[in-house]
Amino acid sequence: MFAVVKSATVLGVDGFLVDVEVDLARGLPGFEIVGLPGVAVRESRQRVRAALKNSGYGFPLKRLTVNLAPSDLRKAGSAFDLAIALGILAADGILEATKVQDVLLVGELSLDGSVRGVPGVLPMIIAAAGRGISRALVPADNEREAALVPDVHTSIISSLQEAITTLESGGQGRRPRPVNYSMEPAEETDLQDVKGQSSAKRALEIAAAGGHNLLLLGPPGCGKTMLARCLPGILPPLSLDESIEVARIYSVASQGSTPLRISRSRPFRSPHHSSTIAGMIGGGSWPRPGEVTLAHRGVLFLDEAGEFRRSVLDVLRQPLEDGVVSLVRHGYSVAYPSRCQLVMAANPCPCGFLGSNTKECHCSSQEIAAYRRRLSGPLLDRIDLQVWMGPLEKTDYLEPGEPSALARERVLRAWESMKSLNGAPLPMTKEAVTVLESAIERFGLSARVVAKVQRVAGTIAALHDSDCVGLEHMAEALSYRLSL
Ligand SMILES: [Zn+2]
Repeated sequence: MFAVVKSATVLGVDGFLVDVEVDLARGLPGFEIVGLPGVAVRESRQRVRAALKNSGYGFPLKRLTVNLAPSDLRKAGSAFDLAIALGILAADGILEATKVQDVLLVGELSLDGSVRGVPGVLPMIIAAAGRGISRALVPADNEREAALVPDVHTSIISSLQEAITTLESGGQGRRPRPVNYSMEPAEETDLQDVKGQSSAKRALEIAAAGGHNLLLLGPPGCGKTMLARCLPGILPPLSLDESIEVARIYSVASQGSTPLRISRSRPFRSPHHSSTIAGMIGGGSWPRPGEVTLAHRGVLFLDEAGEFRRSVLDVLRQPLEDGVVSLVRHGYSVAYPSRCQLVMAANPCPCGFLGSNTKECHCSSQEIAAYRRRLSGPLLDRIDLQVWMGPLEKTDYLEPGEPSALARERVLRAWESMKSLNGAPLPMTKEAVTVLESAIERFGLSARVVAKVQRVAGTIAALHDSDCVGLEHMAEALSYRLSL
């Protein structure tokens, strides 16, 4: 007595189909699972046995062998529970084999027979669609993910019993409610709520238009954090494909039971300065994506950047440069996308009040120099724009701010015009070249820095609807290089 049912697992942000083969043979009763790591096997056996019993099905008194194939594929534990339980019922003749074959079955079983959500359901269903599988049963906890893949007819279930009823009826079962992107809340801060700081707002707009990395320097309370939080709101929304790409990451990173983030607004991640290397780039024995991946196609914000551990900032360099994190584990590796925009905020000195008009800074010049070195060491050459934010003046509170929607319109226009250039740089006027050359001479700018300045100047020109980089564009671009 033998049955094969379909399940899936996740590696990186990709789903892979797994055949769950169940064999029932005469002999001493036993239950063996082949193809899972040790602890997971033990736990899965206990859950499946109890869930079957508590759903009113006896556990077959036979020699039971479950094989998860292909065997060379790394598999996480609990998502196979549902498939194993249904495979046992099919092999035992309780469930008609034809009704369960070629249906993707995913979910963790509780001892009482209810079905819990698991991470990675979205990439699993996408993998099923890619392999021509047209039906799936997934936990109700993962309803939002199921709704995103229309090619697969998915039913959502809350218990083993409901899964059996749905399969036996051969019918629809419960269908996931469609996801309406326009109804999804955006967690964005609006520019008009940020008081004063017009030059920093300008720098934020340039950063948004060109995808440039940004450093905000200023005393506590000047609005660095709030300004950074405005960035997603002035960036163009994600395309439909991009939002699915981001949703896949959040699906893999989820705990299984929290509703999935599905949004057209770009992710904004603000990890605490106590973050670990694993928290930042991903890790763990069964790897999970880190902050730099959760910020993919959005913004990674490092508030109080000077407080982060040096080693943590160091490991960010490669992912920010390459747009991908590679993690190597025992005998296998995973890759997570990490194409994000970096915004750092920092105090100008250890006490924070250098240049402030409200409090005096008592830091020594050595302390300030050491602080700046710590800040500038690992990531400063990844920064394109540096901007100084002074303390707020009284008049700043009265000034009516411009809403994000207007800034976003300008950013969108600049994106469009830069897209039409296909990456080719705008020509520079003679005056712009002269200013750049004298800056190179005066400040000894490296080739890398010059390339950055030119890119930023190109973005500024695009924001001004100009077809060449003029003197004023170049001068403004150069002004965003503070001497750190
Ligand atoms: Zn100070």
